[in-house]
Amino acid sequence: MNGAATGNHPRSVTILGSTGSVGRSTIDLIERHPGAYRVEALAGNSRVGDLIEQALRLRPRFVATADAARYQELKDGLAGTGIATGAGAAAVCEAAERDAEWVMAGIVGAAGLEPTLRAIRRGAIVALANKESLVCAGDLVMAEVARCGATLLPVDSEHNAIFQVFDAHHKPAVERIILTASGGPFRTFDRAAMASASPAQAVAHPNWSMGAKISVDSATLMNKGLELIEAFHLFGVSEACLDVLIHPQSVIHSMVAYIDGSVLAQLGSPDMRTPIAYALGWPNRIAAPSARLDLATIGQLTFEPPDPVRFPALRLAREALRTGGSAPTILSAANEIAVARFLAGGLGFLGIAEIVEDVLEALPATRPTSIADVIEIDAEARRLAARRLDRRAVDAPLVRFA
Ligand code: NAD
Ligand code: MG
Repeated sequence: MNGAATGNHPRSVTILGSTGSVGRSTIDLIERHPGAYRVEALAGNSRVGDLIEQALRLRPRFVATADAARYQELKDGLAGTGIATGAGAAAVCEAAERDAEWVMAGIVGAAGLEPTLRAIRRGAIVALANKESLVCAGDLVMAEVARCGATLLPVDSEHNAIFQVFDAHHKPAVERIILTASGGPFRTFDRAAMASASPAQAVAHPNWSMGAKISVDSATLMNKGLELIEAFHLFGVSEACLDVLIHPQSVIHSMVAYIDGSVLAQLGSPDMRTPIAYALGWPNRIAAPSARLDLATIGQLTFEPPDPVRFPALRLAREALRTGGSAPTILSAANEIAVARFLAGGLGFLGIAEIVEDVLEALPATRPTSIADVIEIDAEARRLAARRLDRRAVDAPLVRFA
């Protein structure tokens, strides 16, 4: 496939989270457009073998692992190649700061906040997959985007869809934004079935192939809650204008409704390479190998409202957005800890939203005015979530034996 990215050939790119689902899809596209991209840096966490293999293929100038304990392995694996290496959080930030025109912010969780900000602060084009950075520090991140003249391109499929049909020049004409959601693997489960759902069931998303954390978030619908907050910051509309609609086929990736009654939607097969290609080629379009949409075969597109009783995470996220300040930071941090515990087998599926609600109730909402404030609030919410989880673990056998 030939793809002209921009006038600058080749476009220099850095991929933060290169070993993850979004990172690998980004690399797949880059490799399908030989000569159009030059990789400046790659960064990831503990999958150092994958990082080495990617680096040997793509020949970046710098590779960082966040996992300092794996540094020797990375260094040895790239010895003699001339590729510089680094380890730890500072090295991941260094990767973000290196002079690439375009950066994929593809790290999962609040760990992506600081590196994403580093890319923003040097005015880069930032393809934003790492929604947690906007959820935990949206006001501050958007202020930095404006101050530093960075370009933020939404990669999350819903926000990418909205971006494609959002008339930024006539914003008062936007009446509503409708975020679609597949409903996840437990869309039709009752609460009893959800209570005993396993991590393997939760990560088996019916339509999308994604990392473990976002897959669990999709199962609780916390993902849609995080996306409400993400949309609020990206598109600057009021919380009341943001709707969520369950659409099990994941064909319509989101919609924008206008004051004249028009509704514009972006459609496509559920393959992240389409929104990533949009960002990678921006402001042009480049080819992506995603399956072509065959609506006649699909036959039916269906819609239903989300069920607030079975999926309380959506309500918690909306409340956190309404409260503002530190509430979304607390929501996202507690969720990360609860999801990790669920994936490790130490918490039931319904416990995830319970822990988030518990931590949100326990910590008063404050107004963070700096990234340092956000990091402190995030850490406090994580500590409290971990304590509550440990207490539940101690209490649980007592309940069972009673
Ligand atoms: P993943 O778990 O597959 O990959 C995460 C990546 O982040 C890996 O490369 C990992 O090594 C890296 N990482 C983790 N901790 C790190 C740290 N402390 N420092 C540096 N790197 C670190 O996750 P994913 O599914 O690719 O999701 C990445 C982000 O994109 C998430 O914020 C997710 O919500 C968002 N997103 C993903 C998809 C998808 O289809 N996968 C869709 C929309 C949005
Ligand atoms: Mg999404």
